[in-house]
Amino acid sequence: MTIEYPARIELARTPTPLEKLARTSAALGVEVWIKRDDLTGAELSGNKIRKLEFLFADAMARGADTVITGGGEQSNHCRATALAATRLGLRSVVLLRTADPGNPPTTRGNILLDRLAGAEIVWISPDEWQRRGEIFVREAERVKKAGHKAYVIPEGGSNAIGSWGYVVCAEEIDAQLAARPDVPTTVIHACGSGGTAAGLVIGARELSWSDRNIRVASVNVCDDRDYFVDVIGRICRGMRDDPEIEGEIDIVDGYVGDGYARSRPQELEQLVAMARREAVILDPVYTGKAWFGLVSELAKDRERFGQRVVFVHTGGIFGLFPAAERIFGSGGS
Ligand SMILES: *Cc1c(COP(=O)(O)O)cnc(C)c1O
Repeated sequence: MTIEYPARIELARTPTPLEKLARTSAALGVEVWIKRDDLTGAELSGNKIRKLEFLFADAMARGADTVITGGGEQSNHCRATALAATRLGLRSVVLLRTADPGNPPTTRGNILLDRLAGAEIVWISPDEWQRRGEIFVREAERVKKAGHKAYVIPEGGSNAIGSWGYVVCAEEIDAQLAARPDVPTTVIHACGSGGTAAGLVIGARELSWSDRNIRVASVNVCDDRDYFVDVIGRICRGMRDDPEIEGEIDIVDGYVGDGYARSRPQELEQLVAMARREAVILDPVYTGKAWFGLVSELAKDRERFGQRVVFVHTGGIFGLFPAAERIFGSGGS
């Protein structure tokens, strides 16, 4: 069966590998596989770049020469957008949310890469972020007055265009599981703005995964189950007219912990354990939380996700560096 996609330009290095984590599988008592979407590139890495393949195709078809987007101060999405724009010869404006815009954070992690890419950074407060729709409009007007044409990409690139990137990923996973297609499997990932989940859920429908006992589960790193069933459902309905789609959305709630981009010691412990057991590097904001959620759920019920788990590593490594002191203190051990 061929899936019909919107226009796409190539940015990500795909297909990404699907690898078995042998020591982790032995430790957890289920087969644990990892879909290496942290390897979609070096600087242009992680899950956002798959969405940007579709979003930039749309932006360029509309004749835009500038993209505007926004996110948290260490946004992986803004960094990927800034670098992709530069690679394609476009300009970028990124709205970065920070506690005190008059006193912005130091240039490290993703911010360093935003600046290297030449993005114009606009610092905004958490209050302004609540009105980001208006601010996107204001920035687009400003870009227009300067003689350019803007294209606004929503936070996380999570809309009915960008999310097609994760239908592509679902197709890759489908092909990679084909040698043993009938093992009950859960594809699990970190969910922050809903686009990755929406793409995987639509992909699962298109590929009839439910016939083969393959499910998708999303660990939310902010907000809650009701919020994400609504957000993901809306994105899905923009992609396909499918009244039953909400029933396919499985949010593994309970792992937001201390809040978005805040870490608890037990989450960081699992992040360090993963690095030392498998040399797989998770990030504190997304993949570390989702991984902690997966490990915690399996400790309660080993059968919860079936015999085989595919953990989608959605990237985020640059957000790890600014967290060094949170992990090891200022001395280090
Ligand atoms: C943005 C992001 C996510 C969440 O993906 P959404 O599609 O926004 O839900 C997960 N992991 C990493 C590393 C991210 O940067």
